[in-house]
Amino acid sequence: MKNKGVIILMLVFGILLVSAWVANMYSYTATEYALDTMCSITAYGINAKAAVEDGIDTLKRLESTLSVHREDSDISRLNREKKAVIENDVFGIINSAIEVSSDTRGAFDITVKPIVDLWNVKGGGPVPDHNDIIHRLKSISNKNIQLNYEKNSVTLLGENVQIDLGAIAKGYCADAVADVLKKHGIKSGIIDLGGNVRTIGKKRGNAWRIGIQNPNATRGEYFGILDISDKCVVTSGGYERYFTKDGKVYHHIIDPRTGYPATSGITSVSIIAENGAVADALSTAVFVLGVDDGLSLLNSDKYGDVGYIITAENGKVYVSDDIDFEITDEKFRE
Ligand code: AMP
Ligand code: MG
Repeated sequence: MKNKGVIILMLVFGILLVSAWVANMYSYTATEYALDTMCSITAYGINAKAAVEDGIDTLKRLESTLSVHREDSDISRLNREKKAVIENDVFGIINSAIEVSSDTRGAFDITVKPIVDLWNVKGGGPVPDHNDIIHRLKSISNKNIQLNYEKNSVTLLGENVQIDLGAIAKGYCADAVADVLKKHGIKSGIIDLGGNVRTIGKKRGNAWRIGIQNPNATRGEYFGILDISDKCVVTSGGYERYFTKDGKVYHHIIDPRTGYPATSGITSVSIIAENGAVADALSTAVFVLGVDDGLSLLNSDKYGDVGYIITAENGKVYVSDDIDFEITDEKFRE
């Protein structure tokens, strides 16, 4: 009788051990082109496949509501009709965007879309006429967005006012996908939306090791390694999208105060935080603000516990105390 008890105990222990092993070893990854970039979702554990597939569906659903590249999205409808009742997620993103806009006195501003369109950096330019830039600047202000919290409706105040969530949406979506994976019981996973990375738990007991893109090198070359768990890291840089004319680089991050690509002396900003939307908005905002104003915003505690890695044109790197980051390329120094 006693022996039977021991055997059952051993069996239960064995099953537990095997399931822990499976949870650790089994992983599933899917990739999808969405939000104008290559996205990949990886989960570890027995539910990994179902979780990742659900994550991809969520990504597609969010894209269909917030993309400016889709005519039927909530955002495109709002940009056309100037007033629209919109889906909860998108409403929340716009709300956060306006907050960051006020905190950065307009260095971050989702109403910058008409200027982004004018520069057409994705299509290779050309450099717009200065007068056209000045003309379009008139409609750029977060004050031109009015939110009705009871009705979930947004009004754009002015015929030429349009919004673009490109600087904040990927961070938000990565969080939303992470929430879906967690609902499937996933305790370990990673979501990479074109360099906007969100991690869940750890990777086989260790922190996730994330390479931070070298802003002066081709894609995939890193200048340092960041260890994180249960956080996101979002990077913005002029190297991501640009065209050159007469030896001059014109990139996709616009200073809404001038209407020209930001020339703040920063080459890339990585923000490490709990909240992906905030991290995404801040990475773009700090790129525009420059080192001094950027650091005072990040160190102000306004956004709580936010880590950063900022690279400047002169190769200097500014790293917050609270993160685990190691520079691996000798051309960069703290
Ligand atoms: P990110 O890669 O997150 O830095 O976002 C850059 C994208 O956001 C650009 O491709 C534009 O669509 C848009 N954008 C550019 N400049 C700004 C800005 N100052 N504030 C908000 N959105 C911007
Ligand atoms: Mg951003």
